Amino acid sequence: MLADAFGREVTDIRISVTKRCNFGCIYCHDEGLGPVARPRAAHEDEMTPTEVERLVVVARELGIRSVKFTGGEPLVRSDLEEIIDRTVRQIPDVSLTTNGSMLEKRAEALRDAGLKRVNVSVDTTDPEEFRSIRKGSLAPVLRGIREALRVGLKPVKLNTVVFRRNLPNIPRMIDFVGSSDGLKLQLIQFMPELIDHRSWVVDMQEVKDWLEQNSSHVYVREMHHRHVYVVRGAEVEVVDPVYNREFCSNCHRIRVTHRGELKGCLNRNDDLVPTRGLDDDALRGAFRTVITTRVPFYGGFVREFPAPSSARGAPFELPMVQDPSS
Ligand code: SAM
Ligand code: SF4
Repeated sequence: MLADAFGREVTDIRISVTKRCNFGCIYCHDEGLGPVARPRAAHEDEMTPTEVERLVVVARELGIRSVKFTGGEPLVRSDLEEIIDRTVRQIPDVSLTTNGSMLEKRAEALRDAGLKRVNVSVDTTDPEEFRSIRKGSLAPVLRGIREALRVGLKPVKLNTVVFRRNLPNIPRMIDFVGSSDGLKLQLIQFMPELIDHRSWVVDMQEVKDWLEQNSSHVYVREMHHRHVYVVRGAEVEVVDPVYNREFCSNCHRIRVTHRGELKGCLNRNDDLVPTRGLDDDALRGAFRTVITTRVPFYGGFVREFPAPSSARGAPFELPMVQDPSS
């Protein structure tokens, strides 16, 4: 297994298969495409299944043990099953992050191709609010989640972005997850770097304090030292990368853009290493370069930790979780 100069071993790779998307979430840096009736063929600038497989072969040689596919919206691609099928032959632990809108019809085929788990992004269980945030319909997403559970893609993790407007939805998301076997919740800190809107940022320490007060059990995962809280039977994992030195110090993940560029850090785009067209030795060299030259973003590049001032002292709107019927 390869490590960087800060002792961070890389065990995980996150591969974007497209930049395209059929939603238009207000916090996302990528622009949605508008309605997409059905999956489409790969674009020229997107990696082919063979190119993805070549990357995964080298990733396995270097000790990487899990793969996550993402986008854009990965289910926009009609060949995702083939990509997954080729990937699991190299690294069996393969998962997917999706907006869920096209999951229902493909969950079984994805499972048959070897997919193990799925993350589905749901910020709220209110259909109007969902449409207002994600510019898409909640109903097909919920059907996709049910189908994923039915075919055994468990656990299904629901990704909820934590930004100021969405705080009141969080207790309901916790109840929703707690009421269904096989669901977990992932609260993802809104990353203002991507689109600005600094006033949307929430102080995640306050969210974590609130979760702790309402939890029966807390544990810490090795990856990013993410804290997991068990709140009324729901497992709630917090992903809080912004201004978080601990998160970066415990980051074991590299990334690949849809164009096949290796990327050592979520927050950086100035260190991309192209891989398309490289022979096997050069491809191995590219991986080694990206892994060994990684630097923790907060704590390495950004040594000062300017607190997002708009979040400090702002009213905190989370109600206490007490009444299951509320
Ligand atoms: N389209 C898929 C989806 O929505 O799940 C996969 C790609 S999306 C970029 C991956 C995750 O990043 C989603 O859970 C999404 O909600 C989250 N995300 C997007 N923009 C974000 C931002 N500015 N801050 C935090 N999370 C964000
Ligand atoms: Fe971005 Fe995913 Fe929303 Fe599409 S569905 S706009 S990729 S967060």
